[in-house]
Amino acid sequence: MIIGAGHAGLAMSRCLSDRGIDHVVLERGEIANSWRTERWDSLRLLTPNWQSRLPGTTYDGNDPDGFRTTPETIGFLERYARTIAAPVQTHTRVTSLCASDGGYLIRTSEGEWRCKTVVVASGACNVARAPALADAVPRSVRTLTPMEYRNPGQLEPGGVLVVGASATGTQLADEIHRSGRPVTLCVGEHVRAPRLYRGKDIQWWMDKSGVLDERYDHVDDIVRARRVPSFQLTGSPERRTLDLNALTAAGVKLVGSLATIRDGRALFSGALRNQCALSDLKLGRLLDTFDQWAKDNGIDNSVEPPHRLEPTRVDDSPAVSLDLTSGEIRTIVWATGFRPDYAWLDVPVFDRKGMIRHDGGVVSAPGMYLMGMPFLRRRKSGLIDGAGDDARELSAHLAGHLRAASRAVTNLTPN
Ligand SMILES: Cc1cc2nc3c(=O)[nH]c(=O)nc-3n(C[C@H](O)[C@H](O)[C@H](O)COP(=O)(O)OP(=O)(O)OC[C@H]3O[C@@H](n4cnc5c(N)ncnc54)[C@H](O)[C@@H]3O)c2cc1C
Repeated sequence: MIIGAGHAGLAMSRCLSDRGIDHVVLERGEIANSWRTERWDSLRLLTPNWQSRLPGTTYDGNDPDGFRTTPETIGFLERYARTIAAPVQTHTRVTSLCASDGGYLIRTSEGEWRCKTVVVASGACNVARAPALADAVPRSVRTLTPMEYRNPGQLEPGGVLVVGASATGTQLADEIHRSGRPVTLCVGEHVRAPRLYRGKDIQWWMDKSGVLDERYDHVDDIVRARRVPSFQLTGSPERRTLDLNALTAAGVKLVGSLATIRDGRALFSGALRNQCALSDLKLGRLLDTFDQWAKDNGIDNSVEPPHRLEPTRVDDSPAVSLDLTSGEIRTIVWATGFRPDYAWLDVPVFDRKGMIRHDGGVVSAPGMYLMGMPFLRRRKSGLIDGAGDDARELSAHLAGHLRAASRAVTNLTPN
């Protein structure tokens, strides 16, 4: 049983079909439900079209370097599900899953199922995280998460504080600022990335140099690696870079990360300059990796010469507090990340943070697998492009589990 018909569940479905393993995909909404219901209107993939490879399919359109809109992404996943004849049962919400008779009992809005193995592909981003200090925001200020945000028209006129400067925060800060609402952006740890480097897309470099293929069991600190924020990237037809310099040039104000809210005042960390310097340093190291790879692989002369980006510009004394009761800020957007929702999972597989314990997607409960999580088996696991390799390897493990289980049953059968 596969739970979830996003790209991760569909990739696994294709791999199980290839192995002749009978399965069903249970989906609470429609195929690509997250893209239909949880994304803002203007969102485009930040990965180029060529980089949405799934098992049995590659991009064959005439715009490999373009970026799919949300409706195009939905269409792409629907076509994929049709092509692979994925056995998806839509509008079937899993309400509980527990161990039973050496397998699993799954209760859904449409009845019960029993299965020997289960693949949890229900998504890494089911719920938007808002910090605990959200409760201290004065009532006069509206707060919303990226899952509630659709477009700037939803917001009151007036200032907006966007908290979080990864892909979501920078994209929303940019769009809201362009709508004429002054934006202040709270910047903590972030990963700066140019859209193009030496004339090629940053994802081309990430892919070709092997950075995205780095394995979970080869990095020093996988816990930390799984928490690294997303690149500050946007997918726009003009392929523009959306780093902090681009935002400040447009008029967005930067402050440090939101430390607390006291008596209606937001207090910001004084570490903005350090955070930006650190991010610039890490970007420099990443570009060094690309340059070295280009040299080692003899393509140094077929791409533009190496160059470095101007350091991130930070005001001499950025604001360290803001009165949220003054009317200057009318809205706060919590672009502070997402988390999965496992309220339905009644199997003791969780760590202290409520995340599923797993070894590269092999969950501690026998016959249970996980898909679609950041750095599950490789750096690219959280991307559409990463699901194929993960599904191929995990479906092999799953097939082995089924073989072992059937041998165990055979051995137990009396003569
Ligand atoms: C804002 C945003 C932008 C992103 N942009 C990109 C990008 O540009 N490129 C890229 O490669 N990746 C991107 N990602 C990352 C990733 O590709 C998406 O999060 C993707 O949707 C994850 O796919 P998935 O199949 O793992 O999960 P999902 O697409 O979330 O699919 C999980 C499915 O499980 C279903 N489900 C959940 N709970 C239940 C239940 N109890 N019962 C039945 N069904 C259930 C859901 O309805 C959903 O359809 C982005 C993520 C976000 C949040």
